[in-house]
Amino acid sequence: MEQILLDYYKLTNCGLNPMAGYVSENYKVTSDQGIFVLKVYEDSSITREEILAENELIGRLTHLSKSQVSQPVANNHDSAITIHDNKIYRLLSFVEGRFLADATHTPELFESLGSFMADIDLSLMDFRNAGIERRRLEWDLQHLNLVKRLADHIQEPYQKKLVKHFFIQWELNVYPKISALRQSVIHNDGNDWNILTHDNEVTGIIDFGDSVYTALINELAITIAYGVFGKEEPLKWACKIISGYHKKLPIEKEELNLLYYLIAGRLITSVCKSAQEKLSQPDSEYITISEKPAWDLLNEWIKINPTLAKNKFYEAAGFEKPAIDTIEHAISRRKKVTGSNLSISYKNPIYMESAAFQYMFDRYGNTYLDAYNNIPHVGHQHPEVVAAAQRQIGHLNTNTRYIYDALHEYAELLLSKFPNPLTKVFFVNSGSAASDLAIRLAQNFTNKQTIAVMEHGYHGNTRIGIDISHYKYNGSGGKGKDDNIIEATLPDTYRGKFKGSSNETGRSYANEFIETLKHSNQEIAAFISESVIGCGGQVPLAPGYLKHVYSYIRSQGGVCISDEVQTGFGRLGDYFWGYEMQDVIPDIVVLGKPIANGHPMGAVVTTDAIADSFDNGMEFFSSYGGNPVSCEIGKAVLRVIEDEKLQQNAKIVGDYHMASLRELHKDFPVIGDVRGSGLFIGIELIKNESLTPNTELAQHIKNAFREKQILISTDGPYDSVIKSKPPLCFSKENVDQVVETLRDVLIDWKE
Ligand code: PMP
Repeated sequence: MEQILLDYYKLTNCGLNPMAGYVSENYKVTSDQGIFVLKVYEDSSITREEILAENELIGRLTHLSKSQVSQPVANNHDSAITIHDNKIYRLLSFVEGRFLADATHTPELFESLGSFMADIDLSLMDFRNAGIERRRLEWDLQHLNLVKRLADHIQEPYQKKLVKHFFIQWELNVYPKISALRQSVIHNDGNDWNILTHDNEVTGIIDFGDSVYTALINELAITIAYGVFGKEEPLKWACKIISGYHKKLPIEKEELNLLYYLIAGRLITSVCKSAQEKLSQPDSEYITISEKPAWDLLNEWIKINPTLAKNKFYEAAGFEKPAIDTIEHAISRRKKVTGSNLSISYKNPIYMESAAFQYMFDRYGNTYLDAYNNIPHVGHQHPEVVAAAQRQIGHLNTNTRYIYDALHEYAELLLSKFPNPLTKVFFVNSGSAASDLAIRLAQNFTNKQTIAVMEHGYHGNTRIGIDISHYKYNGSGGKGKDDNIIEATLPDTYRGKFKGSSNETGRSYANEFIETLKHSNQEIAAFISESVIGCGGQVPLAPGYLKHVYSYIRSQGGVCISDEVQTGFGRLGDYFWGYEMQDVIPDIVVLGKPIANGHPMGAVVTTDAIADSFDNGMEFFSSYGGNPVSCEIGKAVLRVIEDEKLQQNAKIVGDYHMASLRELHKDFPVIGDVRGSGLFIGIELIKNESLTPNTELAQHIKNAFREKQILISTDGPYDSVIKSKPPLCFSKENVDQVVETLRDVLIDWKE
């Protein structure tokens, strides 16, 4: 190489130091004639063309001097490239300065970064070059789909989910719009190791090897993506870059609308490319270290409400925030067209816009930590669920009278989660429809009508659903109990008559109930209950209770129904199904909510004998129950629970949550009881030692949490129990936020 430098460039006394490079070998050359960069490529006509295109591009940056951008140095044949032994040698001037990655970051420096990039883009706006325009790089954000397949190389399930989420967001938000945006040749790699600084100012840039003809806004997206690495307030720093850029080269609103997703797009490109590199270097610590800042930023980015990002970006460019409908107007429109008792959460309702995993985003830019919603069981907008739904709905969705694989495939998977003799499933569209069908199955099978129900239980909104829900028929507006309903007293070891954690407690409650059943002189068709009574205030049935009750019900010819709408699918941590907690196997199981992560689906699982008896000549048909889309979503939910070990997570994070709450209970006697299992938790609030319910405090906490952007709810006969039943991806960090917030609210609480 020294010989080439001497022969072709007349450089004497050369010292060569290797430098990082992607497509070429790079060397820093020190010589009597000065410092240079030597790039060595494998020779090919395409590489030659690319180098010439890049040189032409640099030639356009006339406002930049040799000290600001690496300029090509011609050889003694006045050519920008030297071909020798199948290699291309290319000499460039050396740009001095401190890399942005090493510089002290200040708002002024970031403004100057924006301004510098705008200068470059301004110079390139009318630059056309066929070679560059033909490029199709994986690093070009308009071709993000080129890297999508690499996401499957990511091993860690949470990371894979994060990346796939942002791919879907790109497809939904960017893909339909990006081709209408301004296009230009851009540098396309303003990363912190390509930008040079001096005295709190950006002074240079290197490496035009990734330049492409693409949406102009991608330049800013890329520069921001790297610029805000490691920042506690990434939006604040992003806005400095935007403001510096916009002053030189005004950005359009349509461009800013996509920026949040484009920044994420660059981050996922980077981590996907790292995942690909890891295939050939699985133990490379270098890759793991260098990809860390991108992962850290993605972890923060997911919590940022995209509307907040957009509003901040607009503000940085001096635009007014986009106007939105007010929540008052939205509520009045809703009230005009719906029954006035359609439930709305909170004194100060939330105008919801979007969600991701355990975070929800309102229309005003706020992010809420979701400690409440158990329907999005594997997380809001889980990419596997979204993709399953999108794939299937674009392919086939039909009534259930045709044969298609999704139904039996899903039924097989679901039934594999149940013990014998639970071998048959009926699909419906909600938990209510499932409860309703479960009761019909039981009454048909036993040829009896009376149903035994649990105090404070809730099973659904159909006629039968209300009739068997003490919570409803006995609650406000309820018309009371029907004659064919018999109630069990809630076997509550906190408030109830019998206390203690041994099986004896359950036996005592069971015996009492069995006496009630005997005295009723009615033949029971079915007994229905959850294993933890959600609407009763997350009350776990006393240990051993169901064993005795089930045994009695069966002995007199009835069947036992477990409502797993709230407790099923691993939420309880130690148990996949709630009935396992009581060491029983029901005859009929009611499923809903988490079964399809929010897509309307319910199911009834039962025995061959009960299913067979239902076939009395009347067909069973549900237009949508078990349709192809629902079943594909159901499959995805089961897959994700397994892949992401969500039952284990419910156990680990739930145990941690309960332990933290019990610590808090030591400081605050108003916390009467902390109970539940896994991520199905109740916190009962009391006024005094005689356990007077503290409804006011529970309501205060619920609404104070809402103002502090955490979603929880209250329930129980006195509405004095805080319920937490978050998506199962909830983390210990999320628990800390909940517990610290609760501590703050309790400290401030004055009765
Ligand atoms: N059973 C239980 C235990 C429930 O909590 C619910 C809903 N809250 C239902 C059944 C009814 O489900 P859905 O609202 O989907 O009809």
